[in-house]
Amino acid sequence: MIVLGLETSCDETAAAVVTDAREIRADVVLSQLDDHTPYGGVVPEIAARAHLQHLDGLIRRAMADAGIGFGDLDAVAATGGPGLIGGVIVGVMTAKAIAAARDLPFVAVNHLEGHALTARLTDDVPFPYLLLLVSGGHCQLLVVEGVGQYRRLGTTIDDAVGEAFDKTAKLLGLGYPGGPLVEKAAARAANPGRFELPRPMIGRPGCDFSFSGLKTAVRRHVEELGGRLTDADRDDLAAAFQATVAEVMADRCARAMRLFRQAHPQGGALVVAGGVAANKALRARLASLAEREGMPFVAPPLRLCTDNAAMIAWAGIERLRRGETDPLSFAPRPRWPLDPSAAPVIGRAG
Ligand code: ATP
Ligand code: MG
Ligand code: FE
Repeated sequence: MIVLGLETSCDETAAAVVTDAREIRADVVLSQLDDHTPYGGVVPEIAARAHLQHLDGLIRRAMADAGIGFGDLDAVAATGGPGLIGGVIVGVMTAKAIAAARDLPFVAVNHLEGHALTARLTDDVPFPYLLLLVSGGHCQLLVVEGVGQYRRLGTTIDDAVGEAFDKTAKLLGLGYPGGPLVEKAAARAANPGRFELPRPMIGRPGCDFSFSGLKTAVRRHVEELGGRLTDADRDDLAAAFQATVAEVMADRCARAMRLFRQAHPQGGALVVAGGVAANKALRARLASLAEREGMPFVAPPLRLCTDNAAMIAWAGIERLRRGETDPLSFAPRPRWPLDPSAAPVIGRAG
């Protein structure tokens, strides 16, 4: 089975060709970073126009990279939500047009399910597994029982963790997007233990997260330094922030592991996914936790953690294998929680 996947839910325009033998035949991502940088964040209208402008060309490139024509495809999958609605509409309409013209099945993929199933594209990960989904708009711990079967153990009660990285980067004057820039600054820190930050939720019952207090604490340190940071201040603060996030994640994951084991004594892996899963300090912290707990740990390669279309094509394949497709009347969804019983997620899209 060969599937074309499209991703347009935020500020990456992406197209990929993936097979059910877990082969990524093409994977092209165009970041709109330069379009949004002057505004310090993603501007939805600019994003939608940029998707419209670039998507056709990216699809052509992906098909050429894969060495196939439209006649070789078995299906088309596109992110159907959650995300910035203008962009999602561009991807969904494009996929529907190809599906209609070529009489192919169409699959509307939940972007979060794309992140959630990526580990099964890159590694042998059987269901069930414990998933830490950490991205620009989400921060959740989920038990993945199967395709389309998610049980949420915890979520953020305020900011998503990627959002916290982005806001902290802004406070530190590092620019956008914050995650990779905070990581780089932290790696340069000469005195990473210099600043003490509160560690929200650590030791509390449950598996929820909170990041707004941490962000406020960073702001207070910036103000105490007179609002003018030296490079050393900036790097040390970035290191403190990143280390605190990793500690909080490890604490919440340790609790979730206990709950997971109660429900699934036969075992399962700890999987991390989403843009923030590209953070090497976080990956290392989770790897050591998993080792201590005797649980396998799986983290997709960095470029498959941040937004891409290979994960969308793959999630499409997982659904097609179950005989699931979507009608061409599918309406793009700005909000689309993975766990249908979950209360609406606070934060950005989703
Ligand atoms: P969602 O998937 O929730 O809809 P999104 O698609 O916008 O949100 P992703 O592309 O999955 O988000 O992740 C982007 C986020 O990941 C940004 O907030 C970015 O700062 C963060 N991020 C990317 N790389 C790193 C890194 N190395 N360290 C920490 N955070 C990172
Ligand atoms: Mg992005
Ligand atoms: Fe994402």
